[in-house]
Amino acid sequence: MDFEGVAGLNISRDELLTKISENLSEKRFLHVQNVAATAKKLAEHWGYLAIEKAELAGLLHDYAKEESSDTFKALIHKYHLDPELLQWNNNIWHGVVGIYKIQEDFAISDAEVLRAIEIHTIGSCEMSLLDKILYVADYIEDSRSFDGVARARALAYEDLDAAVAYETLHTVSFLAQQQVKIYPQTILTYNAYIDKLKFKK
Ligand code: GDP
Ligand code: FE
Ligand code: FE
Repeated sequence: MDFEGVAGLNISRDELLTKISENLSEKRFLHVQNVAATAKKLAEHWGYLAIEKAELAGLLHDYAKEESSDTFKALIHKYHLDPELLQWNNNIWHGVVGIYKIQEDFAISDAEVLRAIEIHTIGSCEMSLLDKILYVADYIEDSRSFDGVARARALAYEDLDAAVAYETLHTVSFLAQQQVKIYPQTILTYNAYIDKLKFKK
């Protein structure tokens, strides 16, 4: 699959991979390739027809993850984003603010792909099929190993909304156990999707 022409991209797949690999550690470069492969499988399974957009979202979703706090703060100011974002950290910034870095570094114009990347950490209350595919693929890709990953993988192919709910429940629970702040949208996503998990435990 060549990505040239997909979502406005004007470079070949090889050039894209090189550019991504230059911005990421080896481990994270493997992670984004795994997410792309899982997103492709989920797209095929759930009938999302723009399969190459699902792969592209997977490859680019953590592109900004290794940027410095100063870079993110500068982007928040430059693009006049919600100043509340300044209270958060890389975990939240790399998606919500990361899409601005991605647009600076790549000729990508596809709103669906950018939106899926924007919310890949925090979800949203009304997720598109591509949003759900990326959100879940990030959680279940082949190198992930944690208690519950087998259940998350099974749900991903059985009931995608339940997989979103399962992931959000476990993320909220994990963050609370760590006694760290939970981004408000993460809680709203939990509230919007948790009923989808009923009778599926
Ligand atoms: P990754 O980038 O592939 O590691 O995965 P994510 O983008 O989904 O998550 C990045 C990190 O953010 C993980 O360590 C999550 O536990 C954490 N995270 C997810 N939601 C929240 C939140 O609401 N608040 C905070 N503080 N961290 C979160
Ligand atoms: Fe991420
Ligand atoms: Fe990721």
